[in-house]
Amino acid sequence: MSNAIHPIPAFTDNYIWAIRCGNQCLVVDPGDATPVLSYLEQTQVKLAGILITHHHADHTGGLNTLLNTFPGCPVYGPQGNHIKGITIALGDGDQLEPLPGLTFKVLTVPGHTLDHIAFFASEGLNGPPLLFCGDTLFAGGCGRIFEGDPGMMYTSLSRLTELPDQTQVYCAHEYTMANLGFAAKADPDNSALFTRIKTEQSKREKNEPTLPSTIGIELRTNPFLRCHNTEVATQVAQHWNKDVASSATEIFADLRRWKDNA
Ligand SMILES: [Zn+2]
Repeated sequence: MSNAIHPIPAFTDNYIWAIRCGNQCLVVDPGDATPVLSYLEQTQVKLAGILITHHHADHTGGLNTLLNTFPGCPVYGPQGNHIKGITIALGDGDQLEPLPGLTFKVLTVPGHTLDHIAFFASEGLNGPPLLFCGDTLFAGGCGRIFEGDPGMMYTSLSRLTELPDQTQVYCAHEYTMANLGFAAKADPDNSALFTRIKTEQSKREKNEPTLPSTIGIELRTNPFLRCHNTEVATQVAQHWNKDVASSATEIFADLRRWKDNA
């Protein structure tokens, strides 16, 4: 019986995370049911629950088929009654124990969407803490701001950076190399960033996921978490041909706008 977290690749660059405890598993953000059903068939583990971080179709599109196949399977996700299939609606600070011994705390992290939540387990699977953060924090980057505003997104990311450094970060897309390519422009004197680019590049050459990341790695190399850093602030100001902004939120907004137009 193995306890582990496996990526189930979906679409071109999504990961549906399977959290396995013994002969049961949870899946996070099943945008497509087909690869999840294949995974369950191959591993012969039982689907014990589904976690949803936000409403986008590439995170929820498989719900209907999975619920038809496994009627009564609990589905944990954001409040609001806007996602069909959610059976346990969650708000900030709520706790859930979707598998025996695995407890998550819910953090509301709006910005990419207004309904976005993240799942944090301080105990993990007998290992370091775990974070499933959907499209909020990415390895080397962050989600686009579709429904919220930069201040909201910056506050949400700041909540995640308060988690322990060793927290394993499971985001929902393999965007790492593109993100780090942009990071190199925004933070060109950061030697930890360039070391990381080599490490992640070698994983991709072997077709391995770059995930999970950790909060500590992101704090050292993700420019969206480094808006307080003088070099990042200076690069952002130079890009937009303006004076260095005094607030980290404004630097974040300008950095996000730079990446959106890069
Ligand atoms: Zn999304």
